[in-house]
Amino acid sequence: MELSFCNTVSLPNHRRSGFVEASGSPLETVSTFGRQLLVKRDDSLIIAPRLGGNKVRKLHHLIHDTSREAIVSYGSAQGNTMAALASLCQMNGREFVYYTTAVPRFLRDKPSGNFKFSLDSGMELRIVPSTTNLTPLQVTGLPSFHFVPLGAAYHLAEEGAKVLAKELIQQLKTSESADIRIVVASGTGTLALFLERYLRLNATNISVIAVPVVGDAAYLVHQMQDLDKRSGDVGIVPDVLDPVKKKPFAKPRKELLGIWRELSTQGLNVDLIYGARAWEILVEQPEAFIGNKDITCVYYHCGGLDGDSSQLSRYKRLGLVN
Ligand SMILES: *Cc1c(COP(=O)(O)O)cnc(C)c1O
Repeated sequence: MELSFCNTVSLPNHRRSGFVEASGSPLETVSTFGRQLLVKRDDSLIIAPRLGGNKVRKLHHLIHDTSREAIVSYGSAQGNTMAALASLCQMNGREFVYYTTAVPRFLRDKPSGNFKFSLDSGMELRIVPSTTNLTPLQVTGLPSFHFVPLGAAYHLAEEGAKVLAKELIQQLKTSESADIRIVVASGTGTLALFLERYLRLNATNISVIAVPVVGDAAYLVHQMQDLDKRSGDVGIVPDVLDPVKKKPFAKPRKELLGIWRELSTQGLNVDLIYGARAWEILVEQPEAFIGNKDITCVYYHCGGLDGDSSQLSRYKRLGLVN
């Protein structure tokens, strides 16, 4: 099957045989909270419905895989990775089996968002008592399959992160700045880890700041160190910005909605779960990023805007939005 890439053109690569992608997404200038930033617009990278943003980078290896083998994964019943995999499997004619623990009643009664999308795309859902450390050995009834761990936090995600890193080096090469920092909103930290790994070894003036959205800094560092060990043990982990206050992941809050709206009026539409929380942390500590005059600020836009409408319904149910 021919893949059509929205913002990607294939160019013959004369150094090696085969093709490489060039100019995957643009780097644009935006002013937010009084600071000029460069925004890496991976939100504009859309391969298929709900297969966009940083998931295009993390699943690069599977997008380009012609295998028809089933894909098996696990995690939350509303996850972005789940929806991206469901979309990818539908696009490439692969079976998709997804393990999760009990689905909340309201979602079972009235599927919505990523959950509905994935079921409609043909996902086979398997409900199990626990998915903690689910391994391929526990997967039954499939003659063969490709196993994607929680959040696609595995060595194969490095391939697409490298493509992104090369793109950024190319786009930033005219900058004379000695210190370019790229902020990456992080869940598992997979994208941040592999991006930093390539940059540390290939671009001395560009580094990553991972912003923990799911837990605190220690949790994110631990996750990235673990993934590093499982992917070559290179010993490079990006800097992590420690949030001032811990907040529960993905829970609606009016402060978050405020930041999200403010960013939107300033011309930066981020997603309401990862992006808004990352910005809340960035605004709390301006000296680390937007208030630091000695650095060139780059915001990596992870995409994920497809999840906003179901998240907004949660805000509505809680009376935080009309
Ligand atoms: C998946 C996702 C992330 C987290 O990516 P990790 O590689 O797990 O850190 C951040 N933002 C958005 C919008 C996502 O969909």
